[in-house]
Amino acid sequence: MRISIIGTGYVGLVSGACFAEIGHDCVCVDLDPSKVERINRGETPIHENGLEPMLKRLVGKRLRATTDLRQAVLDSDITFIAVGTPFDGQRIDLTYIREAARQIGEALREKSSYHVVVVKSTVVPGTTDDVVRPVLEQASGKKAGADFGVGMNPEFLTEGVAVDDFMKPDRIVIGGIDERAIDAQREVYKPFANTPTLATNNKTAEMIKYVSNSVLATMISFSNEMANVCTALGGVDIADVMRGVHLARYFTTTLPDGKPVKAGITSFLWAGLGYGGSCLPKDTKALSAHAATHGQPMPLLDAVIATNLAQPARVVGLLERHLKQLNGKRIALLGLAFKPDTDDMRESPSIGLAKLLIDKGVKVSAYDPVARETGRAALPSAVAHHESLDSLMQDIDAAVIVTSWDEFQRVPQLLAGRADAPVIIDGRRILEPASVPRYEGIGRRS
Ligand code: NAD
Repeated sequence: MRISIIGTGYVGLVSGACFAEIGHDCVCVDLDPSKVERINRGETPIHENGLEPMLKRLVGKRLRATTDLRQAVLDSDITFIAVGTPFDGQRIDLTYIREAARQIGEALREKSSYHVVVVKSTVVPGTTDDVVRPVLEQASGKKAGADFGVGMNPEFLTEGVAVDDFMKPDRIVIGGIDERAIDAQREVYKPFANTPTLATNNKTAEMIKYVSNSVLATMISFSNEMANVCTALGGVDIADVMRGVHLARYFTTTLPDGKPVKAGITSFLWAGLGYGGSCLPKDTKALSAHAATHGQPMPLLDAVIATNLAQPARVVGLLERHLKQLNGKRIALLGLAFKPDTDDMRESPSIGLAKLLIDKGVKVSAYDPVARETGRAALPSAVAHHESLDSLMQDIDAAVIVTSWDEFQRVPQLLAGRADAPVIIDGRRILEPASVPRYEGIGRRS
């Protein structure tokens, strides 16, 4: 099929490349000409495993990028909207969605053949039918259902493993105003015919995405609350507790050959610095705000959000326990990105933590193997950035593991035999407590 994608960020670019990979002709549209030029040179503007080789292979064949939205829509059969949907402090900000829909509608005015417009961005339930559809109808002067179709296809990819997630999906959710809009999407996903596919209405598709993210955020904050109780109780380590919890048959299945297999959800039942990124923080807030406008408060989800926001302060408390006064101390942040294998700094816990430490008079230094440019841009300018883990670990009083990059497994080796070993606050519980001279982990009483 001929596909156009509006918005070439993490979701739009990965989707575009993967659609081309499975045989479609794909054009990615973005407002940013420098992004478009880079993509057309086969370079990726974001760090995502496996994406660059894909671009190198497909650009100029079945994949290209452009700033010309109108032409892209005219030259395709189906258009996916993958623009940002930030939280503005009160509610979801649909400015980019409205504008993209308006521009697509104007292009549809010139088109005589049937076209399908699909919202891939995460939008609060009701947006596709009550916002996107009327904007498209008004801008095109045409009728949805008769002249064009409208659908909703939420994206579940995880940054860092996005290409893999897209190419080996666990589920495909397709919403549509009618069978024709749904069938067009089925055609796009035909190569994934063995993947469980749920066809439904647009509002349900939108809600599936929010419930999926809310349950993950809830697991994380639940685990962190339990970890904080362990710290308060003393003599109990949340890591041991969670290992015991994970052994339940709900979390660890035994295969017929006797081999135990842990369910993926267990990685969300693990204590740490809290969630970040471009999805869980904004989506939980947007859903709660949206539900409130429908007279339905969400106290459980609100507590999930509050617990997460408080987690960086817990680390400050652990540092104070070991170093007493933080003023003038030298503290290193190991990792900046909200998770490993990405350079995405959006709502990373490292930002809040760096600010708290700077307010306490700490000299903050940092190193992230990938989030270098994005890390510099997101953190306060007072943070000193290092180019290697080895240099970061010199002349410090403490180090906080913020991101669970594999490289940080080297920390024990770097500290071996050092008389001046800094205290390590393991914000992701990735090291063995006995592996470094002075260890503190979230959810553990030293
Ligand atoms: P992003 O900010 O990385 O990218 C959005 C892109 O859209 C930007 O490059 C911007 O320039 C472009 N854009 C905005 N308006 C445009 C217009 N009118 N025409 C052309 N380009 C336009 O966003 P993202 O992280 O890819 O997220 C996009 C959507 O997908 C959001 O709703 C997000 O919640 C959802 N989502 C994100 C992820 C993720 O892991 N990042 C996963 C699932 C769903």
